[in-house]
Amino acid sequence: MNIPNQKDLLHQLSPGTKVIVIPHRNPDGDALGSCLGLAGVLRKIGCIVKVISPNQGPYFLHWMPGFQDLLIYEEQTEQCDDLIHSAQVIFTLDFNDLSRTGIMGDQLSKTNAYLAMIDHHESPGSYAHYTYSDTSMSSTCEMVFHFVQEASLGQHIDADVAKCLYTGLVTDTGSFKFSHTTPTTHRVAASLIELGAPNQRIHELIFDQNKPSKLALLGLALHKMEVMPKCKTAILQISQADLDAHDHQKGDTEGIVNYGLSLEGIVLSVIFIEHKHEGLIKISFRSQGDFSVNELARKHFEGGGHRNAAGGKSTDSLEKTIERFKSIVRSSGELTREH
Ligand code: 5GP
Ligand code: MN
Repeated sequence: MNIPNQKDLLHQLSPGTKVIVIPHRNPDGDALGSCLGLAGVLRKIGCIVKVISPNQGPYFLHWMPGFQDLLIYEEQTEQCDDLIHSAQVIFTLDFNDLSRTGIMGDQLSKTNAYLAMIDHHESPGSYAHYTYSDTSMSSTCEMVFHFVQEASLGQHIDADVAKCLYTGLVTDTGSFKFSHTTPTTHRVAASLIELGAPNQRIHELIFDQNKPSKLALLGLALHKMEVMPKCKTAILQISQADLDAHDHQKGDTEGIVNYGLSLEGIVLSVIFIEHKHEGLIKISFRSQGDFSVNELARKHFEGGGHRNAAGGKSTDSLEKTIERFKSIVRSSGELTREH
C-alpha cells in the first residue's frame, strides 16, 4: 500500500490537538469526502478539528455529514486565519500544491503547524512534513481509508465517516468505472457499506437531485458541442451569458465534459467555462487511454491533475482560448496519428 511511516505524524495527534483539514478550491466529492471523513475519525480520538474549505462546495453534496459545519475561507477569512495561526497539525487532502487553495495558500505557506498531505494527483509538491502520495489510487477517500487502517484507527470509522469516504470513491471513479478502480477499491467500498454507508441512497443523493438549470445547461452544451474527428477531440463550452440565462448554481456544470468521451472514436474531451467575474476560463479535460491531459493542462493551461482527468485555466477570452486549444490539438502527433 506504500503508506509512509506514520510515527511522527501520529505522535502529534493527541486529545486536545488543534487540527485543520483542508480540501482544494472548488472541492468535489473526493475532496470533501476525504476531509469530512478524516475529521470524523480525528474527533473520535479527541482532536479539536475544523474543516476549512477555500470556497463553497457544490449543492449536490450539501447532505454530507459535516457539510453544514464547514468554514469557508473566502467568506470567513479572519476567523479562518486565526484558526490556521493556532493550528498544530494541518492536513491537506486531495491536492498537492498550496496554490490549489487559492488565496488561502498565502496563509498556509506561513504556518508553523505540522503539515500532512494525502493525495493521488501527479507531481506532488514538497511542502508537507508527512506526504502520502500515490497516483495509482482511485481517490483520496480510498487513501484515507488505508491511512486510518494503517494507523490502527479503523474502529473509529462510523456510519457518518463511511458515508463521506464512500462518496469520494463514487465520484472519483465515475461510479466505479474509471481505469484506476481496482479490486482493492471495491473491497474498500464493500467495507464502507458494511460500516453503514447506504450505497444506493448515496448514488441517488449525488446524481438524482439535479436542478432544472443543470439539465438545461447540459442540453445547451451538447447542442453547441464541436467535434474534431481527425484529432479525436470533442469541445464543449459554456459562456457566462449561458450560465446567467439558466440561473446557474455551483455544481451545475460538473460532469458535462464526460459526455464528449462517450462519442465513438473520441479520446479527448474538453469543456471551457467562462467565469467573467474572475476574468478566467476554467477548463476541464478528460481523456481515454494513454493520452495525458495532465501534461496538456500543465504545459498549456496552468493546470494539472491526473492522466485521464485534469483541469486548468486561461485568462484569454473564451474564443481565443478555444482557438489556442484547437491549434494545440491539431499539432499533436499523438492525437492525429491514424492508429
Ligand atoms: P475537474 O475537471 O473535475 O475540475 O478536475 C479534474 C481533476 O484535475 C481533479 O482531480 C482536479 O483536482 C484536478 N484539477 C482541476 N483543476 C486543476 C488545476 O487548476 N490545477 C491542478 N493542478 N489540478 C487541477
Ligand atoms: Mn480526488
